[in-house]
Amino acid sequence: ENSTPVAELRGAALAARLAEVRADYDRFRARDLKLDMTRGKPAPEQVALADAMLTLPGNGDVFSESGEDARNYGNLQGFAETRALFAPLLGVPPEQVAVGENSSLGVMHDCVVWAMLKGVPGSSRPWSKEEAPAFLCPVPGYDRHFAILEEYGIRAIPVPLTGRGPDMEAVEALVADPSVKGMWCVPQYSNPSGETYAPEVVRRLAAMRTGAPDFRLFWDNAYAVHDLRDAPERVANILDACTAAGNPDRAFIFASTSKVTLAGAGLSFFAASPANTAWYLARAGKRTIGPDKLNQLRHIRFLRDEAGIRAHMVRHRALIAPKFDAVDAALRARLDGTGVAHWTAPAGGYFISLDATPGTARRVVTLAKEAGLALTPAGATWPGGQDPEDSNLRLAPTFPSLEDVRAASEGIAICILLAALERRAAEPGAQD
Ligand code: PMP
Repeated sequence: ENSTPVAELRGAALAARLAEVRADYDRFRARDLKLDMTRGKPAPEQVALADAMLTLPGNGDVFSESGEDARNYGNLQGFAETRALFAPLLGVPPEQVAVGENSSLGVMHDCVVWAMLKGVPGSSRPWSKEEAPAFLCPVPGYDRHFAILEEYGIRAIPVPLTGRGPDMEAVEALVADPSVKGMWCVPQYSNPSGETYAPEVVRRLAAMRTGAPDFRLFWDNAYAVHDLRDAPERVANILDACTAAGNPDRAFIFASTSKVTLAGAGLSFFAASPANTAWYLARAGKRTIGPDKLNQLRHIRFLRDEAGIRAHMVRHRALIAPKFDAVDAALRARLDGTGVAHWTAPAGGYFISLDATPGTARRVVTLAKEAGLALTPAGATWPGGQDPEDSNLRLAPTFPSLEDVRAASEGIAICILLAALERRAAEPGAQD
């Protein structure tokens, strides 16, 4: 019922529909809810899955397999067994993994800063000495990636995502410019579009001619094991692709256990070619005497092996897949057939990306806020917070309870529909 495309409504029918949806909105607002779908945080039940870690490694269990004392300084690169445990997920040999602290964003930040101040292997000068260094930014993308660029005065050039990775025609044209030094990539279950780069896209990223000889892919595989469906998607191995294409140093790979174990107390990883790993460790050795190795032991004892990681991720999936389904069901119930929005059904990751009627995303967020529902600011998925279409919204359903996700999604659907109807009503001829 009531699923006439909004674009076809006019006159009295439009006025009636608008009044009806306004009443829905008022009723929703009167419920006086406090809901938050802003950030991709694991729910309390998810972090509790790792509560056994809080008593690990336990009294007396402080030595690595080779007898290093986890309580003391040292081992900049991380224990061999930590690197062996996570190397398969990163797709590199353990010797090419460096274990960081609790945040991969911090590792990415450091790599950008070091590249700016010192350059990377193959640089003839630091990136900051270039006239106007730039990064390609697939959109919609991760706001914290864009914020790092903004912080250091690096230009952000948006490139469209296609559903199978970035538009490679556009990328190949843009990287011919030598001032383009890097590119953000979330290659699997991308934030927020959920897409996984197709094998052909990975191959072209690895093989494309870049104007800058020291160009780097910032390959942020944050969702490497974060499946929501039975048929998992796996991105092709970027390091192998780069090596095969004769560009062995092109990729910096990042990942973490933030959304495996504990978001605030996980392990982060840098992985790359031997030359890049040596470069990373030389810089890292100036900022720390060594990482938190007790946390490494904690992870090794808790997760044990690859099968342990998989089993743990299945428990996450059981908690969050129903929330993704609830968002989809609520949006469908109110929006199917209206033509006012389309959204993703991701096979993994932490987000649903929704495109509302162009020109209404900001209005949707305002309407939601007034009804007690916090959404990620419109535009956040674009560099500088500027979505030229004012249409993309990032929905993050993991943190709230299932019940709250249901309520919030109904509210979002109402706000999207109301904003689209308001806009339709303001169009020339719609009142006739
Ligand atoms: N990269 C992406 C794509 C993310 O979505 C997130 C978390 N929202 C991060 C990195 C942050 O990772 P960490 O906790 O390891 O800093």
